[in-house]
Amino acid sequence: MGQRSSATPHDGQHQDSSFGLNAYIKNLKIENKIISQETINLIDLHLTKGNIQGVNSVINDALKGIDNVQLNIAVTGECGSGKSSFINALREVGPEEEDAAPTGVVETTMERTPYKHQKFHNVTLWDLPGYGTCNFQPKDYLRKVKFGEYDFFIIVSATRFKQNDIELAQMIRIMKKNFYFVRTKVDFDLKNEQESKPTTFDREKVLQQIRNYGLHNFMKNEINKPQIFLISSKDLSDYDFPILTDTLLKDLPIQKRHIFMLSLPSITEGAIERKRDSLKQMIWLKALKAGALATFPLVGIIIDSDIDKLKESLKQYQVFFGVDDASLQSLAKDFQVPVKQLNAIIKSPHLLENKKEESIGETLLKYFEIFCSANGGLLATGLYFRKMYYLQLYFLDIVTDDAKVLLKEVYSRNGLTSHRLESSGCQNPNS
Ligand code: GDP
Ligand code: MG
Repeated sequence: MGQRSSATPHDGQHQDSSFGLNAYIKNLKIENKIISQETINLIDLHLTKGNIQGVNSVINDALKGIDNVQLNIAVTGECGSGKSSFINALREVGPEEEDAAPTGVVETTMERTPYKHQKFHNVTLWDLPGYGTCNFQPKDYLRKVKFGEYDFFIIVSATRFKQNDIELAQMIRIMKKNFYFVRTKVDFDLKNEQESKPTTFDREKVLQQIRNYGLHNFMKNEINKPQIFLISSKDLSDYDFPILTDTLLKDLPIQKRHIFMLSLPSITEGAIERKRDSLKQMIWLKALKAGALATFPLVGIIIDSDIDKLKESLKQYQVFFGVDDASLQSLAKDFQVPVKQLNAIIKSPHLLENKKEESIGETLLKYFEIFCSANGGLLATGLYFRKMYYLQLYFLDIVTDDAKVLLKEVYSRNGLTSHRLESSGCQNPNS
C-alpha cells in the first residue's frame, strides 16, 4: 500500500509540491478547470516554503469564491421561440411538472420570471419577455429586464434571427456582456424536411442550411461570425447543445464554472466526465488543505466522523449525477422499467449497504485498498492525504461509472447511440 505514515507533506521527495494537483489540472481542458493557474502556483509556493497558513488561506479563498457564486442566465427571444421549454430542459423539469416554466400557445410574459435550478439554488434562469415583441419600447427594455444582473444572455429563435435579435445583441455587446444565439426546434425542421423530401434528405446539409440562413443579416449589422447553436429542447444531448456548454464554460469566470458544470444535465458521457473533473478538483483542494494542516503523522484509521462525511459525500455525488433514489425513480417511470432493474446494474447504492460479516470501517478499508492498487502511480508520487479523500475519489469514480451505465441503458432502450456516448471533443461548427 502506498500510504506512508511518517513523512511530512514537505519532505521534498515529490517533484510537484501540490501533490499532483498541478499536473492533474494542467491536463484538463480549459473549460473544465475551476482553479486558476495563479492559485495553483500560490499553493505550490507556500507548500515549498512550508507555509501551511499560506496554503490554507489560498485554498479557503478559492473555495469561498466557488461556494458563494451566483449564476444568472438570461433567456430571451420572441414569444413561441422556445424560451420556456429551453429553461425547463436545462433544469431537467418536465413541462407538466409543478415548478415548470409554462410553455405553449398563449404565453404573454411581460415581466422577467426567475426559475431556480432545482438542485443548485444559486443558479437562476431568467425567462425574459422578448425584445421588441412586448408592450414596452425598446429603449425601456434593458432597464425593465434589469439588464446588468445577468452573467450572459441566450437569444433564442425558432426561425432565422431577426433585426430585433441583432439589435439586442449589439446592445449587449456595448454593455460588454456575452450573448449566444440559440436556434431551437431543429428536431422539428429536420422532421419536416425528411417528410417532404424522403429520398434526397441529408441531415447534415439541412443543419448547415439552418445555420447559414440569415447570416448576411448579422454581417450587415457588423456582428461578425456569430455563434449560432442548433438545439432541440426535446433532446438536449443532440445537435449543438454540448458545444454550447463548452463555449459557455470557456467564457465564464473560472470560479463560476464548478456550479454551472454541476447544474448541467448528465446527458452525455462528456457532461458526466466533466462533472467528475470538477468535483475531483474540489476534493483535491480540500484534501490538500487538510493534509497540509496535519502536523501529526498521518496514520491509517478511519474515524466515525469520517464515515459520516463519506456517507454524505456519496449521497451528494449521487444527486449531482442523477443516480440518487429520486432520480432513479423518475428515470424508471420515464422508461417504464422497474426501479429494481436500474438499481441492479449500478454500484453506488450498494457501496455502503450493511454487510453482516464486516463493519463499515472494514468495508471502507477494503475500498481504500482497491483504490490504492488501482492508483499505485499516483500514491507513489508522495500523496499523504487522509484516507477519507482517497475514498471520496473512489466513490466519485463509482458514481461516474453508474451515471454512464444508466445513460447507456436509457439510450439502448430508445435505440439511440452514437455521439451521446462519446466523451467530449465535439467540433464547433461555428469555428
Ligand atoms: P416561449 O414562448 O418562447 O417560452 O416558447 P415555449 O417554450 O412556450 O415553446 C412554444 C412551443 O414550442 C411549445 O409548444 C413547445 O413545446 C414547443 N417547443 C419549444 N422548443 C421546442 C423544440 O426544441 N422542439 C420542438 N419540437 N418543440 C419545441
Ligand atoms: Mg414562455
